[in-house]
Amino acid sequence: MTICGGGNAAHVLAPLAAQAGWEVDIFAPFADEAQRLRAGMQAQDGLQARFADGAVLRGEARCISGDAADVIPDATLVLLALPAYAHGATLLAIAPYLRDGATIVALPARSGFAMQARRALGVDGKAATIAGLQTLPWACRTVRYGGEVSVLGSKSEVDIAVYPAARTAETAALLEDLLRVPLRAIGSFLALTLANTGQLIHPGIMYGLCQGREGEIYQEAEIPMFYQGVDHGTAALLQALSDEVQCIARALCEQLADFNAEEVSSLYDWLLRAYPDDIADKRDLQHAFNSNRAYKGLRLPVRAAENGRYRVDFAARYLSEDVPCGLVVVRGIAELAGLATPAIDAVIRWAQERLGKRYLDNGALGGPDVHSSRAPQAYGVTRLSELQGGIV
Ligand code: NAD
Repeated sequence: MTICGGGNAAHVLAPLAAQAGWEVDIFAPFADEAQRLRAGMQAQDGLQARFADGAVLRGEARCISGDAADVIPDATLVLLALPAYAHGATLLAIAPYLRDGATIVALPARSGFAMQARRALGVDGKAATIAGLQTLPWACRTVRYGGEVSVLGSKSEVDIAVYPAARTAETAALLEDLLRVPLRAIGSFLALTLANTGQLIHPGIMYGLCQGREGEIYQEAEIPMFYQGVDHGTAALLQALSDEVQCIARALCEQLADFNAEEVSSLYDWLLRAYPDDIADKRDLQHAFNSNRAYKGLRLPVRAAENGRYRVDFAARYLSEDVPCGLVVVRGIAELAGLATPAIDAVIRWAQERLGKRYLDNGALGGPDVHSSRAPQAYGVTRLSELQGGIV
């Protein structure tokens, strides 16, 4: 197997893979990660993943390289442990070396992954299998680079989509054995795209915390709590975003023969399913966010400003990943279905200003940056019927 990426998730995957009996290579072309991973693993005698229940797993890598030619040709399984905005470049780098019949898995897929992967890999010719997880199965942070990672919590269940769908059962079984997390197979990548709750939660809370206060400068202790900072108004916005996605799912169910709207959970239902034992107060969406111990202590992303203070970091993943590879994709699907999405539009309009991009233009997805998003329109799709088969 080859793990692509050298971050937190990659640090968890290598020991899990070793436990499951895989020989592991790592593709780490980003900055000097390959060299740092090699040095870290040599100095610390391999990688150690410490789980919240006390379990400790160890793993090693056979080869760590920034050159796909070294680590892709032998792999029957390729795991993308990357933010979604790095998927495109990584897929293009591995495509020339990928063997026929390989399985490529994105953890997490975010939105629009399958269409991007098929285009980048020329997959139908290569007979590859593409799989995507709805979220990363763990909350994890690297403690020592190339040496130790802490797994703070694991999801109770994670959705998985596979293309071609006929390979779903065998691929889900293989990954369940590897990841040690129950996987729920859903019928299509289109459903997985709409079921991506990160695209609602992250930009939605950024908007709630920062809209109208974009230039605020904080002392360290004043940096707002992210999830615990969800107030009544932000919860109402998150609910409106989720309601619009539910509305799109119902419309697709009517218009596409093979689409199952029940596979797209509402935000509240997803929270309760992903964190059944972590949420102390389940009375409503706001309190479910505020009282989720898996979210405790996480703050608004910031960057250093003058005099030891901090400004909001609008380049952080909560917008730079979850808008072009998230909300914009859903907005594109809504446009194909002829549905208005006022809440989604308000968040995209605000976020695109912060990112210096333009996706929405005069109320339509016609801005110059649509082509660098994963909206179906970026791939030339103009009619909903082209999404038959659920590949987005
Ligand atoms: P990370 O930031 O630790 O690592 C990401 C890795 O991606 C980097 O180490 C690098 O190898 C690669 N990368 C980053 N930017 C790149 C670029 N521009 N070009 C090429 N490669 C690049 O991320 P992570 O914590 O391992 O998370 C991976 C994914 O899982 C992300 O989508 C994240 O949002 C999601 N996620 C993470 C957690 C968590 O607890 N870590 C929880 C939920 C979801």
